[in-house]
Amino acid sequence: MIVLLLVALASPPQVVLIATPRGQTSVPVTTERGPAAALTVALDGPRATVGLSGVVFVFQLGAPFVRAGGVVYALVGEPYVTRDTLFLPLSWLADCVPRVLGARYHWDPVTPRLEELPVAGPVAAARPVGASPGAGTAPAAAPHPLTGLRLRHLIVIDPGHGGVDPGNPGRYFTDGLVEKDITLAIARLLRAELVRRGIGALLTRSTDSLVDLADRGAFCKAECDLFVSIHVNAMPAGRRADRVSGAETYFLSDAKTEDQERVAKMENEVIRFETGAPSVATGPLGFILRDLQLNEYLRESAQLAALVQDSVAKVHPGGDHGVQQAGFMVLTTARRPAILVETGFATNRTDGAFLASSLGQHKLASAIAEGIVAYLLEFEHKLAIVAPATPVRLFGVSFQNPVLLASGTAGFGREVSRVIDLDALGGIVTKAVTPEERRGHRAPRVAEFAGGMLNAVGLANPGLDAVRARELPWLATTLRRARVLVNVAGATLDDYARVIAGLTDLPVVTAFEINASCPNTSAGGLEFGATADGLRALVRRCRAVATRPLAVKLSPVLADIAGMAQVAKDEGADAVTLVNTMPGMLDRRLGNGAGGVSGPALLPVGVLATCRVCERVGIPVIGVGGIRTVGDAREYLAAGASLVAIGTAALADPRVPERIARDLGRG
Ligand SMILES: [Zn+2]
Repeated sequence: MIVLLLVALASPPQVVLIATPRGQTSVPVTTERGPAAALTVALDGPRATVGLSGVVFVFQLGAPFVRAGGVVYALVGEPYVTRDTLFLPLSWLADCVPRVLGARYHWDPVTPRLEELPVAGPVAAARPVGASPGAGTAPAAAPHPLTGLRLRHLIVIDPGHGGVDPGNPGRYFTDGLVEKDITLAIARLLRAELVRRGIGALLTRSTDSLVDLADRGAFCKAECDLFVSIHVNAMPAGRRADRVSGAETYFLSDAKTEDQERVAKMENEVIRFETGAPSVATGPLGFILRDLQLNEYLRESAQLAALVQDSVAKVHPGGDHGVQQAGFMVLTTARRPAILVETGFATNRTDGAFLASSLGQHKLASAIAEGIVAYLLEFEHKLAIVAPATPVRLFGVSFQNPVLLASGTAGFGREVSRVIDLDALGGIVTKAVTPEERRGHRAPRVAEFAGGMLNAVGLANPGLDAVRARELPWLATTLRRARVLVNVAGATLDDYARVIAGLTDLPVVTAFEINASCPNTSAGGLEFGATADGLRALVRRCRAVATRPLAVKLSPVLADIAGMAQVAKDEGADAVTLVNTMPGMLDRRLGNGAGGVSGPALLPVGVLATCRVCERVGIPVIGVGGIRTVGDAREYLAAGASLVAIGTAALADPRVPERIARDLGRG
């Protein structure tokens, strides 16, 4: 397990140790603005408290959760203490801190480091119109006639050196050429070869200019699949200098041999030409975790290097030096698998002539492109690209797949749109909307236990007017494929009617989801859905004002859930959502005392309810409760559900719904 190790429990840590399967590295905690960003760490029995930038993170030793600001976040490992040292999972720093303190910190998994951002305003989170989804979620298209590839890919090509940095002088190049000219020529040809194969390509420089080494990798971001840097090798003057020839392909790792170190040193030296300060190894909160560098893509990069090298070696006159590894600065900032191709030796007569010739450059570009295609084919094969999940017809519209985000999981979409591609889902169910703004219950609002989560949020929401003016218009302009269901709550029948009447004309609303588990103040706090009469009155009232379809969300603790679904159907409901949370309490751990149980424990409960209703009532069901995997989702679908909604699991890992939608498509 990768762990983050904080030392010196008594005082703010000056050093953070990063422990990985490959050993440990100690990292000084520094800040450029004085000691303000210090971490505070305190241990109190089984509870560990870590303060960062005014936010308190509460860990429970042995439990894979951390709590911050009333929200529980899942961790990939469990915090533990040995002697005077507290071990925290790295995912806390990499995932949780940026989510909680998103405006202040950014985690770069590649460098990797936690970066303190300058004072930031709200970030526009909308995906630009026309942007393609990530490779994993793109719909499968017909295979490209030349390559057989089905997905859209983008490769960033980096022609080494440029401008004032000539690269190596090229002893055996003709016509006064130097490395920067050769790399640019090959890169341009490579771009053309890729485009011919239906693959998008972008150059870090397309002219004789110098791009900062630290900035080149940054061209390869969200939309980019691979980063390929092109260079020409050179031997130092000496007795065997002109005898060495051939191509080699590098991926980023620690150099293992002297030769590898020499090449990395040669290419990294370029930095002396560059004007901007190198942005490596600095930064306000300088968690520079070198030892974890690029682990994420190590295996993929090595595989890409092997396929490209194989292909290049076949056309190269100078021999095959195979795949190598070394610490190239240019590769450290790419966010995807990255390689550096040394296309040959400028210090060798044969290589030099080959590299300087138009034919040689064409052969190299074509060979590199073929290697890239081979890698992308393997990549698509691993993704097992098939048709996306079958669309589902419900509420008179088509859902592109059956996966929704459950109410309360994603607010009104904005909160999660930076981490979830909402448009890859079937739809989103909003937070409950009430006529007036509601602040919700006292903190803590969430507590975890072995079977899942207990929450008492108390219908916190900005109120009908704000939802109509701000939240739903945002969803309407942001979503192109995902559908929107609006969850409605209230303390009286009038509350429900006001919300529905206030929103039912908005085209973005596909349907309303009626929360029937709210306490009815006119009935002494008895839940609307607790009795047949209460439910009948509620659905009837909602039906009377709604011009959109209605789904009624029922509690799992009803004695006869199928009978209640029948009541809803008889009053004109178009579907039922099964199930709501189950009432629960744990040692006053919630500000509200009691709350609702969600998470894995709810799975069999919801599946049984779905099964009963589908068998006996014949009303469409949205299955929700305890879904964490595609297998869980299939339980609901097998029981008869038309759609499924993901709740607690999406709070723990926002990528779960997308993954389940994708996995359902694999059949
Ligand atoms: Zn170079």
